[in-house]
Amino acid sequence: MMDKKALLEQIEKSVNRCRNCRLFQGTMNAVPGEGNMNSELVFVGEAPGAEEDKQGRPFVGRAGKLLEHFLKDIGYNREDVWIGNIVKHRPPENRDPLPDEIHACQGYLTAQLEAIDPKLVVTLGRFALNYFDKDGKISRDHGVLRNVGSRVILPLYHPAAALRNPSVMEELKADFKRIPDVLRTIKGKGLQKPVGAYEFQTGLGI
Ligand code: URA
Repeated sequence: MMDKKALLEQIEKSVNRCRNCRLFQGTMNAVPGEGNMNSELVFVGEAPGAEEDKQGRPFVGRAGKLLEHFLKDIGYNREDVWIGNIVKHRPPENRDPLPDEIHACQGYLTAQLEAIDPKLVVTLGRFALNYFDKDGKISRDHGVLRNVGSRVILPLYHPAAALRNPSVMEELKADFKRIPDVLRTIKGKGLQKPVGAYEFQTGLGI
């Protein structure tokens, strides 16, 4: 069996030469994702923006700075966790990714999560939530831990939304602070094993 590092490198190579949808056109770089492949904690955003496209790295623009700030607050550097997106090339003018683009890209993140197998996936924004639960609503579901198939996810607002809206900023700040407790609880209760596909309630009261 291929080891984790080799597997992730292979996925990265595939992402870098991906032509599965139109999005690669006009981009400078693909943004496969990066960070600690042994992390218990993974963050999943929507799609690269201008700065991410330039550098080929996720969350290196304004939203990324805010994410790093929140991470610091709970005792992590960005290198400690793994960070990726559901869509690996920047949509033109930062428009929303289209359903067929999300569909064309979805195998990459699924394979990356299988390789990393984190205890907790923190989704950032509605597109990342909807990747795991197509009926999810970020205004209703943010901060609510749930099992989706073999993953445990904690949906949070997107940092870019927080930069635009002070009340979202407050909600994101509060939700983010709970991550260490949530992680401890998951580990304590062995919640990482799936209860079943689309089993939303964790029964943990958190
Ligand atoms: N927003 C995202 O969703 N992902 C990034 O990588 C940067 C900004």
